[in-house]
Amino acid sequence: MSLIFDKSREGIGCSILSELDVEPVLFPEKLKRTKSLNLPQLAEVDISRHYTELSKKVHGVNDGFYPLGSCTMKYNPKINEEIAALAGFTKIHPLQPENTIQGCLEVLSKAEKYLCEITGMDNMSFQPAAGAHGEFAGLLIIKAYHKSKGDLKRTKIIVPDSAHGTNPASATMAGFEVVNIPSGDDGCVDIEKLEAAVGDDTAGFMLTNPNTVGLFEKNILKITEIVHNAGGLVYYDGANLNAIMGIARPGDMGFDVMHLNLHKTFSAPHGGGGPGSGPVGCKSFLSKFLPNPQVKEYSDKYEFSNSPDSIGMVKSFYGNFLVVVKALTYILTLGKEGIKQASENAVLNANYMKCELSKIYDMAFDDICMHEFVMTLENLKKEKGVSAMDVAKMLLDNGIHPPTMYFPMIVHEALMVEPTETESKATLDKAIEVFSDIYKKAMAASELLHEAPVKTPVRRLDEVLAARNPVLKSGDRHTD
Ligand SMILES: *Cc1c(COP(=O)(O)O)cnc(C)c1O
Repeated sequence: MSLIFDKSREGIGCSILSELDVEPVLFPEKLKRTKSLNLPQLAEVDISRHYTELSKKVHGVNDGFYPLGSCTMKYNPKINEEIAALAGFTKIHPLQPENTIQGCLEVLSKAEKYLCEITGMDNMSFQPAAGAHGEFAGLLIIKAYHKSKGDLKRTKIIVPDSAHGTNPASATMAGFEVVNIPSGDDGCVDIEKLEAAVGDDTAGFMLTNPNTVGLFEKNILKITEIVHNAGGLVYYDGANLNAIMGIARPGDMGFDVMHLNLHKTFSAPHGGGGPGSGPVGCKSFLSKFLPNPQVKEYSDKYEFSNSPDSIGMVKSFYGNFLVVVKALTYILTLGKEGIKQASENAVLNANYMKCELSKIYDMAFDDICMHEFVMTLENLKKEKGVSAMDVAKMLLDNGIHPPTMYFPMIVHEALMVEPTETESKATLDKAIEVFSDIYKKAMAASELLHEAPVKTPVRRLDEVLAARNPVLKSGDRHTD
C-alpha cells in the first residue's frame, strides 16, 4: 500500500475553510514559514479510501480474539462511546466557569467515588494520561510525603524483577534510585530478599498485583508490613485490576498509593495511541499531595480546589476527561455485582484456557492463575527449533492476535495469554484448537512455522529497524 504522500496530486484539495470575514492578523516576519507546509494534496474521497484501506490491514478487538497479556484487550461496549459523544461532554471548554459545567464535575466526582470504593483508596486524580504517567505522579507523591517530614535520606525505590517495565522507569524519572530484587521460584516476591533490601533509605516499594506472571502475590500483607516498618510507603501498580475488581482492594492490603489503567480495566479502547487515563489514587494522609486541581463536592455544588502541598499539575487541565466518562458509564452499566462478575469471568476464562493448553504446552507456573497466564516454549525451541515468535506469527494467519511475547523477561520463550471476560466459550475453544493445530505442525513440519505469517498484508518485519528508524513521512523511506 502506498503512503498518502505518494497519492498526492498537485492542485487537488478539499479545503472547507470559509472566506476570511475578519481583519487579518499580521504576524511578525520572523514567525512566518519560509516554505509552505508539506501536506499531501488529495480529494476527500481519496483520503477516506486511504484510511479505510489502512484500517483493514490491522487487527483490532472488533476483528477477532486479542489475548495480548497485560493489556486487557476486552470488548468495549458501544454505549460508552455514545455517552462520551454527548454534546454536554464534548462541546465544553476547559476554561469555562465552574457553574456552567456542574454535570462534568459531577462525572469526575462520581467516578472518583466509585473507583475509590473499588480500590479502597480515599482520593483519586484523573490527571495522568497513562498508567506509567500515574506511576510517575504516585512516586512524586511518595517523594513529597518524605520531604514534608524532613526525611531526605529516603532515595530508593524497591522493585521486584517481575514488575512491569514502566515501574523502574517511572521511579528513575521521579529521581529515585531503583533497587531490583529477584523473585522466588514460585514467581512471587522473595520475602527474605525484601527484608534484606529495606532500610532507612527506602522511600517505597512498587508491586504489580496480580504480578506480571499472572499470580496473586502470596504474602501481600507481610510485604506491606515489612515496607511500612522500615518507614517506606507501598505503591500498587493497579493495571492488572481486571482480575480482582469487586473482590479484593489494594487499600485493604495496606497500599498507600496506586494507579489504575482506565484504558484496560475500565473499558476505554487500549492501543492505537490513546487517549488513555491512568488515575492516581491514595490514602487520605497523602491526598493533599495529589495533582491540582481536585474536584470537591459541597451540598449544592461542585468546585475545583487547589492544595498548596500538591505535587502540581502533571498534565494540562483535568486529564483525558472523555475516558473518565466512558469508565463511569461502564461502572454504572455493570453495577456492583456486574463489576465483580467481570473479574470472576476474566479469571475463569484464563484458567479454562490454561487448563486446556497445559495438556499440550508447558506452563511457566503450575498454580491457578488470575486473569492471565504465561506459557514457556523453551522445550519446543530446543527440540524443534520453533520459537514463541514462530507460534505468534502463525496465530496471525489464523485471525488471532498473538499473546504478549518474550515478557515477562524472567520466563524464557514466553507467551503471555490474557483472554479477558468478554470472550465466549466458543471463541476460547476455537483459539485452543488453533493453538493445538500449531503445536501439531511444529512437531510434524516445523519449517511451516518459520514461514508464517503468509496471509497477512506484510510478512515478517524487521521490528528493530521499524522501532529505531520509523517511516512516518515521505522522504524518510528506507531505500532497500
Ligand atoms: C500496561 C501496564 C502499565 C503501563 O500502562 P500504560 O498506560 O501503557 O503507561 C503499567 N503496569 C502494568 C502492570 C501494565 O500492565
